[in-house]
Amino acid sequence: MSRDDPARLPFMNQKLGIEERVTDLLKRLTLEEKLSLCAGRNLWSTKPVGRLGIRGFRMADGPNGLGAILSVFKKGTYFPASICRTATWNPGLSRQFGAALAQEIRSIGYQMVLAPAVNIDRTPLCGRTFEYQTEDPYLNRKMAVAVVQGIQSQRVAACVKHFACNNQETNRTGVSSQVSERALREIYLQAFEAVVREADAWSVMAAYNKVNGVYCCESYDLLAERLRNEWGFRGFVVSDWYAAKTATSTEGCVNAGLSLEMPGGGSRYTEKALRAAFDAGKFTEDALDRNIVGLLRVMFLVGLFDDEETLPAGNRSTPEHQALARKIAEEGIVLLKNERDILPLDIEGIKKIAVLGPNADKKMGLKGGSSMVRPPYEVTPLTGLRERCGEEVEIVRNPAEGDVAIIFTGLSQGLLKGVDTEGEDKNSLELPSDQVALINSTVEANPTTVVVLINGSPVTMDGWLERVPAVVEAWYAGQEAGHAIAAVLFGDVNPSGKLPVTFPKKLSHSPAHASDRTFPGGDEVWYDEGVFVGYRHFDTRGIEPLFPFGHGLSYTSFIYENLRIDGMDILLEVTNAGNRAGAEVVQLYVGDPASSVERPLKELKGFKKEYLEPEQKGRMTFTLTDQDLSFWDEKTSRWLSEAGEFAILVGSSSRDIRLQGRLEYPK
Ligand code: BGC
Repeated sequence: MSRDDPARLPFMNQKLGIEERVTDLLKRLTLEEKLSLCAGRNLWSTKPVGRLGIRGFRMADGPNGLGAILSVFKKGTYFPASICRTATWNPGLSRQFGAALAQEIRSIGYQMVLAPAVNIDRTPLCGRTFEYQTEDPYLNRKMAVAVVQGIQSQRVAACVKHFACNNQETNRTGVSSQVSERALREIYLQAFEAVVREADAWSVMAAYNKVNGVYCCESYDLLAERLRNEWGFRGFVVSDWYAAKTATSTEGCVNAGLSLEMPGGGSRYTEKALRAAFDAGKFTEDALDRNIVGLLRVMFLVGLFDDEETLPAGNRSTPEHQALARKIAEEGIVLLKNERDILPLDIEGIKKIAVLGPNADKKMGLKGGSSMVRPPYEVTPLTGLRERCGEEVEIVRNPAEGDVAIIFTGLSQGLLKGVDTEGEDKNSLELPSDQVALINSTVEANPTTVVVLINGSPVTMDGWLERVPAVVEAWYAGQEAGHAIAAVLFGDVNPSGKLPVTFPKKLSHSPAHASDRTFPGGDEVWYDEGVFVGYRHFDTRGIEPLFPFGHGLSYTSFIYENLRIDGMDILLEVTNAGNRAGAEVVQLYVGDPASSVERPLKELKGFKKEYLEPEQKGRMTFTLTDQDLSFWDEKTSRWLSEAGEFAILVGSSSRDIRLQGRLEYPK
């Protein structure tokens, strides 16, 4: 080992504290080396600095598993799409998912995963709805924090995206989301703030679009003032892929706090552009250092300079990860409708099942854009049914022949074009007309018809829903989808998923669709609905949804009783009144009927998923905080919780409120 061997330098000493190591490494970097660290080397890595032994810091997509664009050879577990995972309303599973995802990333020697994606589902047409979590900021926060904690527990960096207000794909690199401060605070920034404050997220991805006229990559307001100064972010901001290109200047990005432009071959952060802006005095070395420090900090956090043996081991496509993918799918599937209790199916009474529909045997892993995953196998619905039913049951095509007919309909994910995909929005909420015709002809031939939807965003159900006795929302449920769907249909699993988005009856009912200006907009898209997003709009304006936010049936039933409000504590009991074990997601909503500003009729402020055996009673307590009662007051630019009575609403969906009470504030 020579005297100059970087291995001997202080920053390589694992016994030193991280800040000391960062400071030591920073002072050894030349200006050129710092500039070179600002832009990627290729699609998925930063540039190495050989002189100091800095290896490339490598990253991969994404929200549904190890990103497939990375390499055709890297197979990974295809987990259920984020909307399905969120439909579990189970942060514990989200945490486990995060850890498993990080292990998959680690197993190929990478250090960061470009997930979770936490943009609010503002419009049901957004092509990436499947990749995002929900329309509700509270549920979004809880799930996002859990995923980030899970990922980072493995010393892999989470990169929370897309910051901010990338709520549509139409014109995503040009549009400016015009959004009020109140809606930013109460709706769109909640999850980003929470992952920084509660989970110390190590990286954030700046979105393609502008917010209120400024591109996210060069937004001093978003990156410096909010993320760093207000929330205390200490990691680094990376551009969405090629997003910095559209920013107006290099110095704008540096001064705002964009540490890294991705991918390689950059635009704003070429060494030439950076050098020119620096020499012209448009940014200082201090500003540059601040950005570099964030990046170096994360390099140390993920152990880029540490002995591999001291890092958590990675692994990929393990039986444990596959079992987790199945568990998430089983808990995320939502039973939308179940008349005459035709589900669960009784295998004893079935000789033939008619299986129909374009999604019965379709694989979805390699679809949808950057979140595509290449799994080692994918169990389609048809395969799952075959395995579950065994030899005794015959699968037929003619609906009239089946003891039951099951139609696997919904949307398919285009490769890069189509529906439920990155890069473009859907142009309609309806199912393709040939599928509607198929549903109707099937139910005519066989009244015992079950529709299983395979899709990643709300659809309307005009002209068929009333005729079909049972409807299951199975989403894009990952490589174990077929097993999970069969388990739910035959009652091996009692469904417990709840919708994380409202299903509207009509597109025009949706708050983002008041006019062309609110969607898709032109150079600007106006969030005129303010904080009235999702059920906040439907409930406050008295518009009946097709299926409400939080809705999801079970094969058992639950009794809610004994609500007690004690100061800020909300206590209640839930009993499983049926004869099957099952889980209920108890939802706590709060309303402020006498507020000085217009507020949503109710807002989710707590939820608990309770697993109960038949006749078992669960007791639960929610403790509200002042913040839970507050709104962003634009007059004083602060959070305000006003004295008075608040409505406490506890239920099984936003429209199925079982217990109500009043909370006197302050007590
Ligand atoms: C997407 C990001 C993704 C990145 C890298 C972009 O087009 O918006 O979500 O992480 O590509 O694949």
